[in-house]
Amino acid sequence: MKLRLAGAQVVTMDAKRRVLEGDVVVEGSRIRVVEGGGGRSRTVEVIDCSGMVIIPGLIQAHIHLCQTLFRGLADDLPLEQWLAKRIWPLEAAHTEESVYWSAMLGAAELLLGGTTAILDMETVRHTGAAFAALEAIGIRATAGKCLMDAPSAPAGLKETTEAALQEAADLCAKWHGAAQGRLRWCYAPRFVPSCTGPLLRAVSDLAARAGATIHTHAAETPLELQTVKQETGQDEISYLDAVGISGPRAALAHCVWVDEEGIRRLARQQTNVVHCPSSNLKLGSGIAPVPEMLAAGCRVALGADGAPCNNRLDAFEEMRLAALIQKPRLGSDALPAAQVLELATLGGARALGLEAEIGSIEPGKQADLVVLDLTGPHVVPEDADLVSRLVYGARASDVRHVIVDGRVVVRDGKLKTAKVEEIRREANRHAGSLRKKVGV
Ligand SMILES: [Zn+2]
Repeated sequence: MKLRLAGAQVVTMDAKRRVLEGDVVVEGSRIRVVEGGGGRSRTVEVIDCSGMVIIPGLIQAHIHLCQTLFRGLADDLPLEQWLAKRIWPLEAAHTEESVYWSAMLGAAELLLGGTTAILDMETVRHTGAAFAALEAIGIRATAGKCLMDAPSAPAGLKETTEAALQEAADLCAKWHGAAQGRLRWCYAPRFVPSCTGPLLRAVSDLAARAGATIHTHAAETPLELQTVKQETGQDEISYLDAVGISGPRAALAHCVWVDEEGIRRLARQQTNVVHCPSSNLKLGSGIAPVPEMLAAGCRVALGADGAPCNNRLDAFEEMRLAALIQKPRLGSDALPAAQVLELATLGGARALGLEAEIGSIEPGKQADLVVLDLTGPHVVPEDADLVSRLVYGARASDVRHVIVDGRVVVRDGKLKTAKVEEIRREANRHAGSLRKKVGV
C-alpha cells in the first residue's frame, strides 16, 4: 500500500533541519521518499496537501491515560493532596472497563491533536485493558503498569514486590512489540517514595533484559526530595542512579528540583528528562531548569502528564509553554522555538528509545506524520518563520490528517479508528461511576 502526501511544506527535522516543498511517500508503515516537488510513481492513494505543512508526529513522553477520566476532578491542589485525596482513590476505584475508556478518551484527544507516540504510565491494575484500547485506536505507545510496593504506598494500590514484578513481566511478555511493534512495554515504578529499593533494582535488570524503557517520576517537589533524603540518605537523582534507574533506557518525568550536580549526572548518564510545563505550573511544583539541562548536554523530551493536572493533553500547548515559562527567569532568548520543536520530536523519540524509528521525516523511518492547515488567522502571515508559527501560534485544532505506522488515523480532522461519540458517552458514564464510588 502506497500513500503520497502531495504538495506540502515538509518540516523534516533531519540532521540539517531542512524544510522542503514537496511530497512524502509512504509505503507500508515506512517513509520511502521525501522529495522536492512533483515526483511521479504508481501511488495507490494521493492526499492533496497543497498549502499545508507536514511535521513529524509529535511525541509526548509522559502521559497517564488511566487518569483521563479524572479531568476536572482534582483542580487547584498541591501534589501531595492531589495524589492522596483524589488520584490514588480514583485509580484504586478503576475497573477493567473504565481503564479502557479512559485510555480511548486520552488517545482520541492525543491523535486529533497531532500526538502520534506516547510514553504512558497506567495504574496498578487493568493495564491489559489500556493496551487493548491502544491497539484498537492506532496510536504508537510505550506503556506500563504502575508499580508501588513500599510500606507507605496507598492501601488500595499497594502490592507485594513479587506480585508487582510478576504481573509486570507477564504484561511485558504479552505486549512488548505487539501490533507489529507499534506497542511497547515500559517498567513504570511510580516514584521513589512509593517503591522499595529491591523493586527498583529488579526493574533495572528486567528492563535491560527485555530491552524496555523505564518510566518514572523524579524531583517534582521539595517535599519529595526531603522524603527520599530521609529514607535513603541520598539525593534523589543519585539514588536512582545507584539503583540502576539512569541512562538512555530511563525517562524521568519532571526533574524540577535538580541542582547543578544533579544536572551533570543526568547529562553524564544520558538519562532522559521529561519536561511537563503545564503540570508543573498547575500543581505549583516549579519551573524545571530546562535551558541549563540542555546546555549541560541532557536529553530532554516533553509531556502533558495526566488530564487532572493539566487539563489538556495537547502537545502544541506544552511546546508553547515550555518556551514561555523560561523567559521571565532567563531572558526572552531562553529556549527558542527551534529548540522546543526538537524536544517534542527528536527528544521524545530518544526518551522512547526509538530515535532510529521516529522523530523526523526521513526515508526508512516509520511513517508517523501530521498534516497541519496553518491558514487560520492565528497563524497568519504565512511567510513568517515556519517554526515560530508551529511553536508559538499553532493549535491542536489546526491538525487535518494524522498518519501513524503508515495508517491514516485522522482524516480531515476526524478520527477514523474509533467513534468519538461512543468514546464520549462511555467516558462520561464511567467517570460518573468512579466519582460516585470515591465520593468526589
Ligand atoms: Zn505523572
